[in-house]
Amino acid sequence: MKNSCSFLLFLVLMGTLQVNAQSDRWQQSVSYKMEVDMDVNTNQYQGTQVIAYTNNSPDTLHRVFFHLYYNAFQPNSMMDVRSRTIADPDRRVGDRISKLSPEEIGYLHVQQLTMNGLPVDYEEVETILEGNLPQPILPFTTVLFETRFEGQVPLQVRRAGRDSEEGVRYSMSQWYPKISNYDYQGWHANPYIGREFYGIWGDFDVRIKIDKEYTLGGTGYLQNNNEIGHGYEDEGVKVPTPESDKLTWHFNAPRVHDFMWAADPNYTHDKIEMDNGVTIHHLYIKSSRTASNWEKLKSYTPAALSYMSEHFGEYPYKQFSVIQGGDGGMEYPMSTLITGHRTLGSLVGVMVHELVHSWFHGVLGNNESLYPWMDEGFTSYASSLTMAHIFSEQPSENPHRGSFAGYQRLVESGLEEPLATHADHFHTNVAYGSAAYAKGALFLVQLGYIIGEETLANAMLRYWNTWKYRHPNPNDVIRVMEKESGLELDWFKEYWVYTTKTIDYAIKSVKEDGENTLLTLERKGLMPMPLDVVITYQDGSQETLYLPLAIQRGEKPEEKGKPKRIHTERWPWVEPEKTVTIEVPFRQIKSVEIDPSERMADINRDNNKKEF
Ligand SMILES: [Zn+2]
Repeated sequence: MKNSCSFLLFLVLMGTLQVNAQSDRWQQSVSYKMEVDMDVNTNQYQGTQVIAYTNNSPDTLHRVFFHLYYNAFQPNSMMDVRSRTIADPDRRVGDRISKLSPEEIGYLHVQQLTMNGLPVDYEEVETILEGNLPQPILPFTTVLFETRFEGQVPLQVRRAGRDSEEGVRYSMSQWYPKISNYDYQGWHANPYIGREFYGIWGDFDVRIKIDKEYTLGGTGYLQNNNEIGHGYEDEGVKVPTPESDKLTWHFNAPRVHDFMWAADPNYTHDKIEMDNGVTIHHLYIKSSRTASNWEKLKSYTPAALSYMSEHFGEYPYKQFSVIQGGDGGMEYPMSTLITGHRTLGSLVGVMVHELVHSWFHGVLGNNESLYPWMDEGFTSYASSLTMAHIFSEQPSENPHRGSFAGYQRLVESGLEEPLATHADHFHTNVAYGSAAYAKGALFLVQLGYIIGEETLANAMLRYWNTWKYRHPNPNDVIRVMEKESGLELDWFKEYWVYTTKTIDYAIKSVKEDGENTLLTLERKGLMPMPLDVVITYQDGSQETLYLPLAIQRGEKPEEKGKPKRIHTERWPWVEPEKTVTIEVPFRQIKSVEIDPSERMADINRDNNKKEF
């Protein structure tokens, strides 16, 4: 390629800047230039890539790995076998992969792979290409990988594919040879079995050549919008008639870790310009099942984006696209694929969830396979707040009740596995789903309880500012919480993430001796937590007894809108009788309740309250 040299120099400089910008954790960087030519009759495509890969690690690399996701959509693939044999199959998948015909399977094959012009010795092992490098990649150097590849879009089974149930022609996620991430934990060449992704930060320059009737959308800013049209042209521009049967769409996506596109000849394209400079694109196939709700969606997407920007960090891209496609809802940088035949509530709900992933996935790029709860759980948490805001729920309603109910069902099912389990290695789908989404959301809900709601809100912004465009892990999150609160919180992370121990506190007894009321609390569960115990008196007034854990080495500040604290006493967790008795001056008590805010994930709330 002619431009390779200056392109390479540019990337070396970029790589150097990125190294310097990082304090204590290096990360690889990558830049993709891709061209792809799609045949809408055969559903096959040919492509080329020039990938500038910068090794910011202190290690010399001798191998390289690429993901070839579409090879999962073939009978007897790991995804097929796992989907058919898991105890509780995903109904979208079931045994469908085993029944795909040769025209319906997916594949993605690398026909040629070089590094700095030298052939790489490689082997395709289903969804992973394993390459032995012709020369080692030294620390702090950039190399150019070049590939030629061909693919066939699978009939839609899971996430990506063609001809979805709702009639969308192409949902093109996981479609290109994607270099695996190498980080301080080594290579992450996860085969595609079903769940979750992890990518390297970088810039994508993508040219897609496809039948001129198709409207496209996805990750990336369209560079040649005035040649393409399809609703992307600037106001007043007359788009020239295409000279051939195909158009080449040129997209550019800076600082993302993946690139998705979708295409259909019948998409309706709505554009909403927000005051903050973000353009929202809605692409959907207009019918009696979509027309009215997708019209209404036009007010909800900007409202959700504004709320998230205000509370969790400013949305950093200039564009967000909600696109009908896929098989439910799936997040991609700057965009989402969602199914469109939904009630308004469901449509808004899925749009909000996937939009919120722009924060917890799109920009806070944790390894989703290892820590699915850090994107799904945190997304569930922030979505619940966003939904409560845009549907103006009463502030007294606990927006996280659904997450608690999901977690409680998981505990009661006996199927719970530690949150730390790799996404693909949970024994059942239900254990994965409830852990990642519900128990993951409760990680934050309970931190709000432990460190205080205001502190948590500040900590979430601090998390964003510290870890955006990086790959945070569970320790990084808890360290941010510790720094913001001044408390020691490792015990919380250890119990909640690495064990299945549960919380159950009870009010054992309330006795009077004439002068004082003696309140005895009992720790019945194995996981210790600080306690807010609220006493409501006969006259309706309320006071709080606060029992922080000794191991948290401090107290949360008094929270706005909560009853005044009259007593603070540290509680160790080793006392053999598992009880503590507190003496308060006698007054006529109406009720005593542990955590009336219901933010602590107490699995038995029946014993949390005594009324008189
Ligand atoms: Zn999600």
